[in-house]
Amino acid sequence: MDSKKEEKENGYSSEAHLIYGRMDDPKWDYSHHLLPPISSSATYRLDSTSRGAQGFAEFAHSSDELTVTSKAPIYIYDRLGEPNKDMLEENLAFAESGDIAVSFSSGMAAVSGVLGILTGAGSEILAHKTLYGCTYSLLTNWYPRLKINTKFIDFIDINEVRRSITRATRVLYVESPVNPTLRLIDLRAIAELAASINRTRSAQDRIYTVVDSTFATPFCQRPITLGIDFVVHSLTKAIGGFGTDIGGVVIGPKWSHDMLMLYRKDFGGVLSPKSAWPVLVQGLPSLAVRMRQMQQTAMRVAEFLSTRREIECTRYPGLPAFNQAALARTQMVDYDGNFAPGSMIYFVMRGETPAEALTKAERFINHIAQNAYCITLAVSLGNIRTLIEHPGSMTHSAIPVEEQTAKGLDPGGVRLAIGLEKPEDIIKDLSFSFDGTR
Ligand SMILES: *Cc1c(COP(=O)(O)O)cnc(C)c1O
Repeated sequence: MDSKKEEKENGYSSEAHLIYGRMDDPKWDYSHHLLPPISSSATYRLDSTSRGAQGFAEFAHSSDELTVTSKAPIYIYDRLGEPNKDMLEENLAFAESGDIAVSFSSGMAAVSGVLGILTGAGSEILAHKTLYGCTYSLLTNWYPRLKINTKFIDFIDINEVRRSITRATRVLYVESPVNPTLRLIDLRAIAELAASINRTRSAQDRIYTVVDSTFATPFCQRPITLGIDFVVHSLTKAIGGFGTDIGGVVIGPKWSHDMLMLYRKDFGGVLSPKSAWPVLVQGLPSLAVRMRQMQQTAMRVAEFLSTRREIECTRYPGLPAFNQAALARTQMVDYDGNFAPGSMIYFVMRGETPAEALTKAERFINHIAQNAYCITLAVSLGNIRTLIEHPGSMTHSAIPVEEQTAKGLDPGGVRLAIGLEKPEDIIKDLSFSFDGTR
């Protein structure tokens, strides 16, 4: 891109960049289209064997000036790279304030991609005790076979993190907000701790910090600006936004690009261009307006839930009574610096015993499933439709029931993922089911 065009892009808001990306992207000349066309070709025509050879030589050599001589990318085969994914990755890196982004076929492929390049036999991962069920399963069922061990600790206690780090520790891994409990991890404190330990370590023993920021989206929080090394997202959730496609992404420092591309090429978790396209032209461009609307609604719904006596506690980072309100205000901010507490709510049904709380949560959710118009019983989140679920028996069921309480999950816990409906309509459905399951 010549400097005149670059100049023309500068001075616009971050939100404008989420809609337009780069002007006249060299990745694909589509100047007569308003939107980049959907790319659908497993393989690419090459002009000559030497151009093919050049394409292979340049693949995953993004920072090697001697190897990379062509100005526009040479596309060879979809698993190596194609224009829709490349354009999406550029916009996702921008959205998170990271150097680079590499997309994957799902959020889980992205989680295993970043951990795959950072660990090897003998490595240790320190992870927060509450994690998305499949991430927990990856770390406990599969990585021990590769001699990669994970210690689950409480990342809210920074001293516990400091005490738990050993010479073998390679990765500090957290979600913030935590799925589903909406606890926050102090990402600045984690990044500073890792930096202080890394000052005493050689490059190969370095500790990396990884944050699954799916619950926040880049609109509400940008961990890399707080000193975190890598961010992962499930694109299936609020970034994709419409629930049409599965996808994931890793955003990180420049050096990691080629490693992530090689990992993706060989393990094969490639995002389909047909799934990259809706995120590029619909999801990311509408992220800011959707999140602004959803968090306004979430605030109203959280306030309503706080008044119900059926509920033991309501956790939403925007509530003044939220127990980490000060951290929420400094860590969760939008592109203009406004407080951005997100669209996710967690609440715990009241019960004399955990078993009673569980029964009440199940009765309430089943009543919603059968009667509500504007709330759907379904996993996933960040959708334009409001979704409700019971983490203990659904998204987090990979965690054994007897360990769930120790891992911060409540038997009576309910996860509510706010959509684009009006708050009045969501509250109407919730009230009806509270009253109907008394
Ligand atoms: C959904 C989710 C994932 C996994 O993403 P998929 O796209 O379903 O593979 C990972 N982390 C969090 C926090 C999630 O909510």
